[in-house]
Amino acid sequence: MTNSLLEGHGLFQSRFFHEREYLQHLANDGQRPSALFIGCSDSRVVPEYLTSAGFGELFVLRNIANFVPNLAHVDSSVGAAVDYAVGSLEVPDIIVCGHYGCGGVKAALGDITPMREKHPSLCEWLDGLAPAVRRALKLGDEPDALWRRGVEENVIQALENLITYDVVREKLEAGKVHLHGWIYDLYQTRIRVLDVEHGGFVDAAEIQRNG
Ligand SMILES: [Zn+2]
Repeated sequence: MTNSLLEGHGLFQSRFFHEREYLQHLANDGQRPSALFIGCSDSRVVPEYLTSAGFGELFVLRNIANFVPNLAHVDSSVGAAVDYAVGSLEVPDIIVCGHYGCGGVKAALGDITPMREKHPSLCEWLDGLAPAVRRALKLGDEPDALWRRGVEENVIQALENLITYDVVREKLEAGKVHLHGWIYDLYQTRIRVLDVEHGGFVDAAEIQRNG
């Protein structure tokens, strides 16, 4: 398997030969990404493929279930990425991108007690999704709809938690950063975007059509 990945790197070398100068420029002059992209570690959700973004465009943070803990949470890895991307790199946009079919959200919606002994770190992480899970459960859908709802509530919760970080809140108030909630629909291979004004997630193409 590793061999095939290294072969893939050989392909990359030849495919991106024409971009060598630009890559060199990025290496020497530093990055200036246009967005912080927070997504799930799921191998089917590849930010650069989904957005056709190139080198230097996205500052990417991926973890189980694209979770953003609030500032009080014990984990600081998300906060570190947010601090750096927003505070130092000054990205103008933060995208939290969940995805339908998210195994992390599905696990959090169920009973993870039997997993605790074997996967303590994973369970501690999934405990953080509890507020989103509670909101989804309140709506009482059938299992598939509940799973989708859990994914949506988790993105909304992540956006709310982002505002607990001083650097985000200050830039937001100054109009220097914008927050976006996305969901990648694995089944339809389409992105849905949170429509704050009307509530709910709508097809990205619809948002583009309406300007
Ligand atoms: Zn996922």
